[in-house]
Amino acid sequence: MPSPELPAPTPVEPRPTGPLCTACGEPALVHWLRRLTDDELDEHIRIEQERREQALLLADPQLPPPVFPPLPTGEDFTRTVYSCGPHAISMDAAALVHASTCTAPNEADLPGCDCTPEPAPAAPVEEAAAPLPDHWVTGGA
Ligand SMILES: [Zn+2]
Ligand SMILES: [Zn+2]
Repeated sequence: MPSPELPAPTPVEPRPTGPLCTACGEPALVHWLRRLTDDELDEHIRIEQERREQALLLADPQLPPPVFPPLPTGEDFTRTVYSCGPHAISMDAAALVHASTCTAPNEADLPGCDCTPEPAPAAPVEEAAAPLPDHWVTGGA
């Protein structure tokens, strides 16, 4: 049985739903990371401190009080920077973590930026793959 005719959907202007370019507000195509500014880090620490105070309040008084690791530092966080195609920094630069003060994407510095990104982490040492059983190898016995 044919389903009853539905009214045609009203066309909707497609609206970007994802992240937007930091420089121009167009839908972002690429992103990279930068460290948090002091204000952003303060916010993180404030939230973490509130969480700990709450945990202390809720802690069982019969037990020793919870022990927390040191508060997070700037090394623990990154912020994602979004950019459209034309405002994208180079792919090599986007692979690195940028300073909190980095102003990219900034047209004056494209396709680079005005900070010295952190060096890339050392590539993990590739471990030799364990050999597969002979009958798992194509052409094997
Ligand atoms: Zn842009
Ligand atoms: Zn940078």
